[in-house]
Amino acid sequence: MSADEVSVDPVGADEVSAAPVSAARNPLTTWEGQPIAPGSANDVSLAVSESYSSMTVQIPLHIRRAVEDGPTVFVTAALHGDELNGTGAVRQLLRDPALRLVRGTVILVPVLNILGFDRLSRYLPDRRDLNRSFPGSKRGSLASRMARVVFDAVISRCDFGVDLHTAAVRRTNFPHIRADLSDPRVAELAVAFGADFIVDGRGPKGSLRQEALRAGCPTIVLEGGEALKVEPHVVSTAARGVKNVLRHLGMLEGEAERSTHQVIIRRSKWIRAERGGFLEYHVQPGDIVRKGQHLATNTTLLGQVQNTVESPFDALVVGMSTLPAISPGEPVFNLGKLPRSPRAVGGDPT
Ligand SMILES: [Zn+2]
Repeated sequence: MSADEVSVDPVGADEVSAAPVSAARNPLTTWEGQPIAPGSANDVSLAVSESYSSMTVQIPLHIRRAVEDGPTVFVTAALHGDELNGTGAVRQLLRDPALRLVRGTVILVPVLNILGFDRLSRYLPDRRDLNRSFPGSKRGSLASRMARVVFDAVISRCDFGVDLHTAAVRRTNFPHIRADLSDPRVAELAVAFGADFIVDGRGPKGSLRQEALRAGCPTIVLEGGEALKVEPHVVSTAARGVKNVLRHLGMLEGEAERSTHQVIIRRSKWIRAERGGFLEYHVQPGDIVRKGQHLATNTTLLGQVQNTVESPFDALVVGMSTLPAISPGEPVFNLGKLPRSPRAVGGDPT
């Protein structure tokens, strides 16, 4: 078993217990001293750093509060500054006439990592990863200080959170939820989001979702699509899922749209190239593949076949490289091991 592999017995979605809707703990009534009135929609900002030219660096936020009190939920995007599908989703939610809250408060953040975003980079100018820097420190690095500001001003005031991500550059992900299903409140959100696939796991140390949960704010991550793009199918999945979560929490009217064949993936593995060469891909993200199925053919530039990349088990293609050129050891496919009855997932296994 490689270090990339996490081994846990596969279990179906119906084995996750959905806890009852949790009560709100922090009614959000002010922002930086200004009132957030019941029934109001507010464009505000948060100063997170200072630029080389001594300008205040701010992130824009939208706070929408219903007349009736209820949970406070954050929706964050571009925590990695080049992951823009979430930004597209937040912008769609901002314009969505159906986003009329009947209770509680939503904080929408189209770009969390504004310094990375301005450079079209996943990382901050100090080359640190903001999503490994939470909860942060007032006396720490640039990343750590930014994380602390965001954590104190937004995360610690929320009851639940949804953090929107994409694959890293030159990779793509089939839209899926990542969540720590050992916490029943997180499991509740993950199931309510309504995505077809949930990948179980705690998340990396210092990640927003792990630290938010530790601080009492159950948080899930959507992973979908590619960096530096706004892809309509990912945006619609994200926006629909956020509204499902809000409906589940009683903050929007109507019933959450449930996935009819939700599957939980508890073990995943990156399949790496054995030879340098040019790949011809035979599958795409979201495909269901069988053990031994050829996923890609590795050829020389003159077209001679070197080897084939095969699936080691029945799997969902969770993510994959978008780059055909490959060297030995580079990741090609991220495969999620399917539970016992993969046909229940739907899709053609050929
Ligand atoms: Zn990310």
